[in-house]
Order: sequence, then structure tokens, then C-alpha cells
Amino acid sequence: MRRFLPLLLALVMLTSLAACGAASPASGGSSGSSASSSADPGEPAAPQVEPYTISDPTVKPAGDMVDGVPYTAWDGVVEHLFFHPVIAYPELAFDGDSESDGLDDYMVTVDEYDKILQTVYDKGYVLVDISDVWSETTSADGQPAMVRNTLYLPEGKKPLILSFDDVNYYPYMLDNGFTYKLIVGDDGLIWSEGKDPQGDEVISQDLDAVPILDKFVREHPDFSPFGAKGCLSLTGYCGILGYHTQTDTKSWSAAQETARQKEIEEVKPVIAELKRTGWTFGSHTWGHIRLGTKSMETVQADTKRWFDEVGSLVGPTTVLFYPHGERPDGDDWKKTGPVFKYLQSQGFRIFASVGIESFSYIKKDICAVICDRLHPDGTTLRHSRDRYLQFYDAKDIMDVNIRPQREIDWK
Ligand SMILES: [Zn+2]
Repeated sequence: MRRFLPLLLALVMLTSLAACGAASPASGGSSGSSASSSADPGEPAAPQVEPYTISDPTVKPAGDMVDGVPYTAWDGVVEHLFFHPVIAYPELAFDGDSESDGLDDYMVTVDEYDKILQTVYDKGYVLVDISDVWSETTSADGQPAMVRNTLYLPEGKKPLILSFDDVNYYPYMLDNGFTYKLIVGDDGLIWSEGKDPQGDEVISQDLDAVPILDKFVREHPDFSPFGAKGCLSLTGYCGILGYHTQTDTKSWSAAQETARQKEIEEVKPVIAELKRTGWTFGSHTWGHIRLGTKSMETVQADTKRWFDEVGSLVGPTTVLFYPHGERPDGDDWKKTGPVFKYLQSQGFRIFASVGIESFSYIKKDICAVICDRLHPDGTTLRHSRDRYLQFYDAKDIMDVNIRPQREIDWK
């Protein structure tokens, strides 16, 4: 997708470093966050688009045509939706065991995911990569700072970031109707591997969020004018993408290391194909740790381990997705605490939590941007229909009959 990057073009609000449609995230908390839609006092209400640069002179700037389609500057909110792995077999997920309600809260089914993609596409959203929304630059006083890029989009389209948390294929998921791993098929494309409720192996492109989106974009290429797909948020403690690439510090043998190296060799072509087709990667910490409460020593050891076991495979990233949505030091907005400073020193620039709107805020005292993501899942399908109407109507999406019989606000 990098070949299209100049279209997403930049810059630059050197003087304003504006809050981007800023609202204030409530401190802490994993889900509640943004409290209002008012701008941060003293900030310009909207970013000022100042001189931009065109790094590729063959790509036309705003107002011009690309392949017969006019492109125009977008200065509004860049919406951001995130998903967990999607449920391939609801009869296994919602079988009434102790995990059923949690899966109902945090996941969507394949059918729901299919409908959500179709609906956001129909409503004019187009995919952009999270790393293309902001850039690092040098501010007027010579300090490194993040700026919001000016996105140039096909006229009438709206930008949408997708991210996917915990694309690790944890053991509990394998028992509950999720796919087992991503693989590269004989055709060179990404497929999922798993088992159906009868225990038979299934290789498919219709049962997992990643190949489903790949297929959707192949069928609707204008959904991804720049080649972006989504950012995969990975932990490390159970390996990545369905491969056992993790170590265990309690006991580790040569045989275990040999097996691990084999898994590493197997996941490499999967990573390469994902990257080739517009997927990017971010950290979700190695151990899915709570950044608001863990000690600095724990955060440092965890971060090092993520780079050793995950970053070494997926490559550099500037994106950190907070586990549990928990903000470093308990608050990443009104203060910049020691944990936040440490994580930023390790190369992270985009810090993503979870909230009630696609809030984002460029910090002024450190080169970083914090942002919230909306979360299509059972909780918001049941209880936040209005908030998601700009994307879809929960009434049209939710598999009411297949999910547990729990409260729904709009029924
Ligand atoms: Zn997570």
C-alpha cells in the first residue's frame, strides 16, 4: 500500500498541533471514555491545513482526479472501529458454558461482521491505515511532534481505520468456535484453518476476520483506495497468528526452542503476505498487561519481551493498543506519566484505547497521539445502537436468535 501513500498526504500543522475533533477521555477505565464533544479549551476547533508537500509529483493533490475520480481533502474525524476475532461457529461460542456471556459481550459473529463490513462500505467509508493518519515531524521549537495528516480521499468518501485485537488464537478461543490460525494457501492468499463443530478440519476464507476482509476488498476494491486493510494488535504470550512463537521463562529446553523455531519459520510467510496485502501490526503488550497499575519494572520487561518475540517477527511499529483499554499511569490525557514516557521512548507514537467515540488528541509535551476506538461487539449491539448508527443499525446486524437471551435496549 505504500505506493499509494502520497495520496494520503501530509501535512503540516506545525504551529497548531491541534486536537483532532478533541473530546476528553475520562481518566482510566476500559470502556467508558470520551465525555463530551467539545474541543479542548484554547485549541482551534479544527486543524488548520497548512502547506502540504507532495513527495510523488505524479500523484495529483486535492481536487484533482485519480483514475477519473476526484480526490478531496478530509479534515473531519477519522473513525476507528476495532474487533476481536470473530465467532465462526456461534453454536460453540454460545453453548451456555462459563465463557458464553464474555464472548457475547466482546465479540461479533461472522454473519454480523459480514453485515457490518457491507454497511460501512455502503455508507461511504473507505479504509485508511492508522499509521497514515498521523506523522512525526519537527515542531516550530525544534522538538519532535506528531501531526495529523490531511487525507485526500475519493470525493464523498469518509476515512475509517480498522484494528483487530488479540489476533493470537488463544486456547480458549479454539474451544469456542473460532478459527485456529492464519495460513498461506496454495493460491498464495491468506486463509484460516480450524475445525467445525464435528471436529473436521476446515480451511476457509469465510470464517475469520482477516480473510473475510481480504475477500471483501477484492470484491469491492474501492473500499480500500490506498490498499489499507487493518492493524493487527498482537500480544505474545500465546504466540501470534496461531503459531507458538512464545517462550516460557519457567522451563525451556532445547527441544522446545527447536519447536519454536519451526513455528517461527511457518509464520514468516503469513506475516509477509499480510504485509503485502495492506495489513499492519501493533503491540497489545506481550502479556496483555494492565498498563494503569503494573509496576515500571513489569512494563519494561513485558515491552522487551514483546520486541524480542513479536516485534522481531512483524517488524517495527509505532502503534500500541492498551490491553483492557487501560491507560498508562491511569491517565494518558491530562498527564504524561512515567509508564507513558517509557513506552514512548521505545518507539510508540500512537496510543489507542477504547471509548465511546473516535476521539484523538495530539499530546503537546511529548511526541505522541492518543486515540480511542469504537467497539462493534455484543455490548454495543445491545446497548449503544444510537452511537453506532453512522456505521450500521444494530437492528439489522445483531443475530438475536443465536446469541444468549440477554437484555437488548432497542427491542
Ligand atoms: Zn485484548
